[in-house]
Amino acid sequence: MAMETTLSILKPDAVRKNAIGQILARFEAAGLQIVAARLVHLSRREAEAFYAVHRERPFFKDMVDFMVSGPVFVQALYGEGAIARNRDLMGATDPKKAAPGTIRAEFADSIDANAVHGSDSAETARTEVAFFFPTLAIHRR
Ligand code: ATP
Ligand code: MG
Repeated sequence: MAMETTLSILKPDAVRKNAIGQILARFEAAGLQIVAARLVHLSRREAEAFYAVHRERPFFKDMVDFMVSGPVFVQALYGEGAIARNRDLMGATDPKKAAPGTIRAEFADSIDANAVHGSDSAETARTEVAFFFPTLAIHRR
C-alpha cells in the first residue's frame, strides 16, 4: 500500500462539540500522522471554491451555509493508504448509515452536520491538500 497524504476537515459541528481532540486521537491510533493543521473560519467564497465539484447539487447552498457557520479544523493526514483509511474511519456520509464505531456514527447528527470531510481519491487528495496547504512538501502529497 502506498504512502499517501489526504485532506481531512473537522466540520463546524465537530468543533462546536469540543470534539477535536477525541477525533484526532482516532486518526493517530489508526497510524495516520498529522503533517499540517490549522483552525480556520472559512469565508463563503472559500467554501464555495473548496466544494466547487458539488456546485450543481441541490444541497450546495445548505452545505456552504453549514461550512461557514463556525470554525473548521483542517489537516493533512499522512500514512499508508491514508485516503481509504481516513474514509473508513469516517464512515458513511449519512450518519444513520455509518457503521458503528466510525467517527460519523459517534459524532455526526445529520447528513449536513456530519462531523468530517475526507478526500475521496488520489486526484482530489492532491487538489484539496494543496488548497489549504500549498507549501506542504510535494513528496507528502
Ligand atoms: P465529504 O465530501 O464531506 O467528505 P462525502 O464524500 O461522504 O463527504 P459527498 O457526496 O462528497 O459525501 O457530499 C459532500 C457533502 O455534501 C457531505 O458531507 C454532506 O454534508 C453533503 N451531502 C451529500 N449528500 C447530501 C444530501 N443528499 N443531502 C444533503 N447534504 C448532502
Ligand atoms: Mg466527498
